[in-house]
Amino acid sequence: MKTNFQEIVRFINNIYVGEQPILHRPVFAGNEKQYLCECIDSSFVSSIGARVTEFEQLVAAYTGAKYAVVTVNGTAALHIALLMAGVTPGSEVITQALSFIATCNAVHYAGATPVFVDVDRDTLGMSAVALRQFLELHAFKKDGVTFNKVSGKRFAACLPMHTFGHPCRIDEIVAICAEFGIPVVEDAAESLGSYYQGQHTGTFGLLGTFSFNGNKIITTGGGGMIVTNNLEIAVKAKHITTTAKIPHPYEFVHDEVGFNYRLPNLNAALGCAQMEQLDKFVQIKRDLALKYATYFDAQEISFIREPTGAVSNYWLNALVLADVVERNAFLEHTNANGVMTRPIWRLMTKLTMFDQCQHDGLENSHWLEERIVNIPSGVPMSML
Ligand SMILES: *Cc1c(COP(=O)(O)O)cnc(C)c1O
Repeated sequence: MKTNFQEIVRFINNIYVGEQPILHRPVFAGNEKQYLCECIDSSFVSSIGARVTEFEQLVAAYTGAKYAVVTVNGTAALHIALLMAGVTPGSEVITQALSFIATCNAVHYAGATPVFVDVDRDTLGMSAVALRQFLELHAFKKDGVTFNKVSGKRFAACLPMHTFGHPCRIDEIVAICAEFGIPVVEDAAESLGSYYQGQHTGTFGLLGTFSFNGNKIITTGGGGMIVTNNLEIAVKAKHITTTAKIPHPYEFVHDEVGFNYRLPNLNAALGCAQMEQLDKFVQIKRDLALKYATYFDAQEISFIREPTGAVSNYWLNALVLADVVERNAFLEHTNANGVMTRPIWRLMTKLTMFDQCQHDGLENSHWLEERIVNIPSGVPMSML
């Protein structure tokens, strides 16, 4: 087994020749410096500026969403998207336990409690089968509103996530939620550039959100985006993320408690330059994934591929190892030998903040948690 790992270390080092094989590294190979300098010269470096609107329009056009509202990070985008979907204090949001902490944190910021359904082993995202089972078992309708029999609380939203950029079965999830009258918010933080049946992730639900953190496929340093096809929601989201100020040349009047979730123009300028390279990044990441897939097939190690019907951005490449023992040995060996790898996130139900939350047993989530590792996935200089 050790020899095998050594061979993998050699293979990955060969791809990342001349650089550290870390999980992800942002690439600034376009107009970033020029746009940033123009921004500084214009003095519009803060929350007002032409790049903010331009960045929103670029992401809307790219994803095919009618409207996009930029935010200071992806967690803030999720927080506002949940509020816009009607999540209120004391309600519940159905989500997956196999996700980055931001998903659940946003649910908590909205005053709601997460409840967890299992994921699929192939997509790593919310299972439509598990969701239907959970709702058929626990949901009841009263006056057109769907409640949880167990807690008596309202199911305010369903929040699936497109894990590592691989689309989940979002069409089925949206259809099930429509039956039960539950709005869908997609955590598409990792899946900019990923499509399901030809449609961009994040545009199936009532709202979708993206992240432009430094480790995502494109970065604004920090940043996020809400997308929706609903004009009323888009206008409300813009208003509440920009301190809920009523537009006026000099008066400061605010009509509700808003948030300062505005993205500075500097960061948006970076985003505009990054958007120009997004297609190239996706192509290179797909080429890299193909290299990995071919290699790991030959090694008889399971490599996560894009699900049927999906075109994935392969944001983070992942292996499914035999068991937790092999996983730990792999993590030890690769990290000790200069190749950065890491296990998938600890399940949300194992964290003290969320360990009392209702769940469906999470069989696949537990199975995957013990076996999945991420391997270096950034755009390699040798492929740029
Ligand atoms: C990155 C990420 C977010 C948002 O993170 P920010 O750092 O706040 O931009 C949300 N959900 C998932 C699954 C993520 O990977």
